[in-house]
Amino acid sequence: MNVHEYQAKELLAKFGVGIPAGIAALTVEEAVAAAKQLPGPLYVVKAQIHAGGRGKGKFKELPADAKGGVRLAKSVEEVEAFAKEMLGNTLVTVQTGEAGKQVNRLYVTDGVDIAKEYYLSMVVDRATGRVAMIVSTEGGMDIEEVAHSTPEKIATITIDPAQGFMPHHGRAVAAALKLSGDLAKQAGTIAKQLFTAFNALDCDMLEINPLVETKDGNLLVLDTKMSFDSNALYRHPDVVALRDETEEDPAEIEASKYDLAYIKLDGNIGCMVNGAGLAMATMDIIKLNGEFPANFLDVGGGATTEKVTAAFKIILRDPAVKGILVNIFGGIMKCDIIADGIVAAAKEVNLQVPLVVRLEGTNVQQGKDILANSGLPIVPANDLGDAAQKIVAAVRKVA
Ligand code: ADP
Ligand code: MG
Repeated sequence: MNVHEYQAKELLAKFGVGIPAGIAALTVEEAVAAAKQLPGPLYVVKAQIHAGGRGKGKFKELPADAKGGVRLAKSVEEVEAFAKEMLGNTLVTVQTGEAGKQVNRLYVTDGVDIAKEYYLSMVVDRATGRVAMIVSTEGGMDIEEVAHSTPEKIATITIDPAQGFMPHHGRAVAAALKLSGDLAKQAGTIAKQLFTAFNALDCDMLEINPLVETKDGNLLVLDTKMSFDSNALYRHPDVVALRDETEEDPAEIEASKYDLAYIKLDGNIGCMVNGAGLAMATMDIIKLNGEFPANFLDVGGGATTEKVTAAFKIILRDPAVKGILVNIFGGIMKCDIIADGIVAAAKEVNLQVPLVVRLEGTNVQQGKDILANSGLPIVPANDLGDAAQKIVAAVRKVA
């Protein structure tokens, strides 16, 4: 789960992290009122969407030479003008994809006199089983380019979970950022605060870009991206309350209601599979046969008619889907029950695209008979390879 920049900053502030003053706004009037409460004379109006790259982004509705989703305003009047330009419009950044994202919230924040921009992020590094802190002197809007062309400018410091954040970690961060004196001390403090917040909130990613040194010698967090381990959300109702469903794919929200693990992808073959491993294998074999999956979908252990129907409906919301491959292993669930579910669901949604079904496991023959006698144009498949070839051939015929 992700949150907006202003929400992440409010969470971090509770851990003592230095952030510039700022107020979120949903309307132009609220943006103006927010600016009036801030000290000024410089303000920054920031589009709040769950995607980075806003500064270099472009609004679809504005002229090509218009500025992006992070605008420096020199007066309350400018804040008002920028809020009018941004709210309701669609911001396209390197992270939103071509469709962009509609800006429904703004963050009006204090303009900071920046001396230098740094980069600091944290992720759970699965290879080491530790939290990795990634820091660079080259913060700002081009960190991806730095990682690509000058990776030596990025340092990684891993923290042993049993030991926690030690003073030497703080010194390593300061050294990697080439800071000395009071700034080095501040870097150690902020790194420790961020690490504490990361653990306490069960984050899986926290990115500060930029972390800035101000002209008057302070380190401040200017931009934050934060995401949370969904397995730990039950421990954080306050974080769950920050969820902004308008930022999420409606199909994924619908899927979560039925306890289906669904992730939309760019291909044209809808997949309905039980078990994440089998779902991955199914996607792989579709690619191996030259087409692309339209989604990842794990219906889980109990593939009931209700769940299968919901899954069909969710897959078919995607206009790119030209065919569906159902690949189900009847272990705990029996194949005949699954087949009943598939037939009922296919009839209910009035399925118009080719459907290939591969069943394996308990009562497989009864299951196949149900599909064959259903009167529906279901193409049976014997194994994974056969299923993939059949669905690829079917969607190519349609196209
Ligand atoms: P994004 O990463 O989505 O482009 P940022 O919040 O990082 O958005 O803003 C982009 C750039 O705008 C920053 O690298 C920084 O130079 C500038 N900026 C952001 N917030 C402020 C601020 N409060 N004061 C001054 N400059 C800012
Ligand atoms: Mg940024």
